[in-house]
Amino acid sequence: MTTLPQTDVVIIGGGWSGLLMAKELGSKTSMNITVLERGRHRKTAEYIEGMDELDYALRYRMMQDVAKETVTFRNTIKDKSLPVRQFGGFFPGDGLGGAGEHWNGQTPRFPADIFELLKATTERYGKKRLPENHSIQDWGITYNDLEPYYTKAEQLLGISGDSHPPFGGPRSAPYPTPPIKQTYFGKLFEDAARSLGYHPHPTPCANLSQTFRNPDGVIRPACQYCGFCERFGCMVGAKAQPTNTLMPVINKLKNVSIRTNTQVRQILTKDGKATGVSFVGAKGQEFFQPAALVILASWTLNNTRLLLMSRIGNHNTGRNLTHQVIGAGATLFFDKPLNRFMGSGSANITVSDFDADYFDHSNLDFIRGAYISSPSYGARPIANFGAVPPNIKSNWGSDWKKAAIEAYDRSSRIGCSGEHIAYKTNFMDLDPTYQDHLGDPLLRLTLDWNDNETKINNFITEKILGIGRAMGATHVVSNGPLKRYDVMSYKTTHVQGGTIMGASPETSVVNPNLQHWQVPNLYVLGASTFPQNASGNPTLTVLAQTLRTAAAIIGSKAAPSPNA
Ligand SMILES: Cc1cc2nc3c(=O)[nH]c(=O)nc-3n(C[C@H](O)[C@H](O)[C@H](O)COP(=O)(O)OP(=O)(O)OC[C@H]3O[C@@H](n4cnc5c(N)ncnc54)[C@H](O)[C@@H]3O)c2cc1C
Ligand code: SF4
Repeated sequence: MTTLPQTDVVIIGGGWSGLLMAKELGSKTSMNITVLERGRHRKTAEYIEGMDELDYALRYRMMQDVAKETVTFRNTIKDKSLPVRQFGGFFPGDGLGGAGEHWNGQTPRFPADIFELLKATTERYGKKRLPENHSIQDWGITYNDLEPYYTKAEQLLGISGDSHPPFGGPRSAPYPTPPIKQTYFGKLFEDAARSLGYHPHPTPCANLSQTFRNPDGVIRPACQYCGFCERFGCMVGAKAQPTNTLMPVINKLKNVSIRTNTQVRQILTKDGKATGVSFVGAKGQEFFQPAALVILASWTLNNTRLLLMSRIGNHNTGRNLTHQVIGAGATLFFDKPLNRFMGSGSANITVSDFDADYFDHSNLDFIRGAYISSPSYGARPIANFGAVPPNIKSNWGSDWKKAAIEAYDRSSRIGCSGEHIAYKTNFMDLDPTYQDHLGDPLLRLTLDWNDNETKINNFITEKILGIGRAMGATHVVSNGPLKRYDVMSYKTTHVQGGTIMGASPETSVVNPNLQHWQVPNLYVLGASTFPQNASGNPTLTVLAQTLRTAAAIIGSKAAPSPNA
């Protein structure tokens, strides 16, 4: 193994959180920073040629290569875990920018009470209402602690939104840009929801409504509504991505170097401190990168796996694995065209009336809830072809084909995203049997839905069907009840937990500044630090927390002095 020259900071992972940390530390201190990213370099120019639905969206061009590394899965400890041979439930990113290159850009803040979920739920409904086997816990910070960093993150990305949303915690500043345009389907949804007494509002988004210059002087253009956001990089740079928002600044910093094609295998420690990381280069060479400060930013599953493989941890590593309750929903058929080929990854209207604790649960048999939305991502032709109304009984042949062609632009769906609370039975550990291409153990997921999620799903389905009918659809077809957690059908890439934060080392892996309790020169970034899921998409909260941690490192006496 070749030992490289010492660096002040080594960052594992060049996605949203890793590159944001590199930009913050690199531009505000003179520390030398090395970012190690397992995938290849990426830049906006290459996306102009990348609008191939088959290659990118269906054959997962930008995702982690499962032939090299995957996870194993089982629903419960009684089941046998098996390797996931094709990603389905979530799409781990790979390459500079991480999953932040091919995300949708929906950027809500979390409900204020999620950070104190245990306290808030117990105070309002009593301990008895907490589901059996739950492992809900507070985060060790409050919404107010994070609020200034939410604002900074929104300004960095130019988030487009309604500055007076009907729900959510207080805001210290308006959104930097107005909401993006809505589609015809979104307008039908909004009018119907309002007619039922709900409070629809545009989903805040990182897909710009107008040209925007951020506080770093980075300029990005407005969205063109081409519909190729999710699973693609934006060809014009309207969707905030690490490569178009952070890299223009990082490229000018002499103290930040980025090494792609470098797979980190272990964080090394001595006498309770991290000494650096070992990694494999593109040609299989092994290196040791010594560093005064190690920052782990390789996304939820990889963060957890690397801590376990490095044998750094306490009994809490791997706990509180959560996803997002994506089950309820309905397909709607209309007797008029919707022009749904146009859209954007975040051109949604959201109804939050049944989310979080925004409604009274006293007479209900579940806690928390879900938001309902009108996804208008732009219906790309391959993946969105084939829905037919229920009166068409055949599922192949000329009748079906005729109906599917007719329905393509006359159908759409209402979706929802529900809160997934943490349970003792849902966790991650290292698989005792299966290994990756380097011979390291795969991460094993043990995950299933419980009663609370099923009940949220049933409750929300009724609301969704009501909205669908009020929209004037000729047919409203429910997705049906939530079945067992299935790792093959796509939900979202919003997986949380494994290295959770908290106020005490007894119950968490990192402290409220995301510093490892046992290894003080190791920080962990990303949604792996969330004690539970909050129905909403996580990335704005990941970025806000990264900014808060960067401020703590820069202000901390424990941080290595420049060029130490
Ligand atoms: C299709 C899709 C749509 C999405 N839409 C939304 C949305 O609308 N809103 C939202 O909030 N979120 C969305 N997300 C999720 C969002 O992309 C992630 O929350 C975000 O990218 C997480 O940032 P991160 O830095 O933790 O991880 P990433 O951005 O994924 O970066 C992690 C990086 O670490 C690298 N890495 C991993 N292991 C190693 C290793 N051992 N050595 C070196 N490098 C390593 C990876 O290659 C990757 O580049 C979406 C994701 C997908 C896939
Ligand atoms: S819909 Fe807008 S943000 Fe998305 S890829 Fe197209 S231009 Fe970019």
